Amino acid sequence: MRIFKFGGASVKDAAGIKNVHSVLQQVGYEDVLLVVSAMGKTTNALELVIKNYFEKSKELNASIQEIKKYHNQILLDLFEDDKNAVFTAVNKHFLDLEYFLSSNKSPNYNFVYDQVVSMGEIISTTILSHYFNHVGIKNHWVDVRNFIKTDNTYRDAIVDWDTTQKTISKNIKRKVLNITQGFLGSDENNFTTTLGREGSDYTAAIFAYCLNAESVTIWKDVPGVLNADPRYFENTTLLNQISYREAIELAFYGASVIHPKTLQPLQSKEIPLYVKSFLNPLLPGTSIAKGSHLEPETSCFIVKKNQLLLSLSSIDFSFIMEENISEIFALFHKYKIKVSLIQNTAISFSVCIEDKFGNFGELKNILAKKFKIFYNENVSLYTIRHFTDKAISMVEKDKTVLVKQMSRETMQIVTQE
Ligand code: ASP
Ligand code: MG
Repeated sequence: MRIFKFGGASVKDAAGIKNVHSVLQQVGYEDVLLVVSAMGKTTNALELVIKNYFEKSKELNASIQEIKKYHNQILLDLFEDDKNAVFTAVNKHFLDLEYFLSSNKSPNYNFVYDQVVSMGEIISTTILSHYFNHVGIKNHWVDVRNFIKTDNTYRDAIVDWDTTQKTISKNIKRKVLNITQGFLGSDENNFTTTLGREGSDYTAAIFAYCLNAESVTIWKDVPGVLNADPRYFENTTLLNQISYREAIELAFYGASVIHPKTLQPLQSKEIPLYVKSFLNPLLPGTSIAKGSHLEPETSCFIVKKNQLLLSLSSIDFSFIMEENISEIFALFHKYKIKVSLIQNTAISFSVCIEDKFGNFGELKNILAKKFKIFYNENVSLYTIRHFTDKAISMVEKDKTVLVKQMSRETMQIVTQE
């Protein structure tokens, strides 16, 4: 079986969905499982709904209507007949959403977030499935929440591999086209969970692992994995072949092409991952597989914006040692703060961190009881794999360098722009 993942940008409008159809016609769709994200920026739009809900804003209804209108337009563009069953099916999902919001009693933000934000994927796959039936491609709509089981860490759920493996290998139909949602799972009580923003790639990898798939293809609006993000760098080049290890390094430091958790399950079963253009589906794109390596060693540039550079030093000039460091890390873990660079001296300790969940304020107060704290907000972390002098000076140009760290293959530079 082949697993195909189509992200939000590939299904952002009717033309995008028609293009997915065209991709399937070119590359085949027998024995395929499609993993699909929410359409366009729907996840962000649903995040606004959640915000309005918790703030009891009078914009709540309008923010829901906005999402309805967007999907309705796509439906009108795809189906000539507005009596098609898809209209009722999509409407039912919106009614479910409204019912949930009007009856929910849980004050748990993360729980509510997952119940609401999941509608994006439920609706997008409903539309795709109906559309493919409409154009003569029979398919099975699969509710991923019956297959990917997780713990109840809402917004960042951890997969229960044993149960997931059993359910998927037993119940997913082979030799047909399956369509399912990325990003979602469900907990023991069947409440919806999510795997972290941009988690649909990971969903594709979970299915691939459990089905011993032949390959995973992530269809993108770029020709494959580039050596740098074209939004921030000029003259990018396509990487034809990379190893799992290189890809994990690139993804971990924030190359936004692949979700970082995606590679581990694939690597452990040596399932190749292809990143290809949904506009030119027959081009080879990038292949990430065992034993492949970057040749020649192209410098790769990854930038993470909106980071925090935090420095802690001891109040009484005592050393910052293993003991304090482990305590600091336990706090990062507790507050879900991601650390992407560490540097320490005898009495000070610096980290470049990302405060995805807005917990830094609280953590800072706790740390301030024990340490002197300095921090810079809004810094950028540049990671250069296979660096050269030229690559470094290109990154440093016109910027203030706050930290610079070098290892054999990787240079990391924290800058304030
Ligand atoms: N729709 C989700 C998000 O935007 C998951 C994904 O796109 O991978 O984060
Ligand atoms: Mg998305």
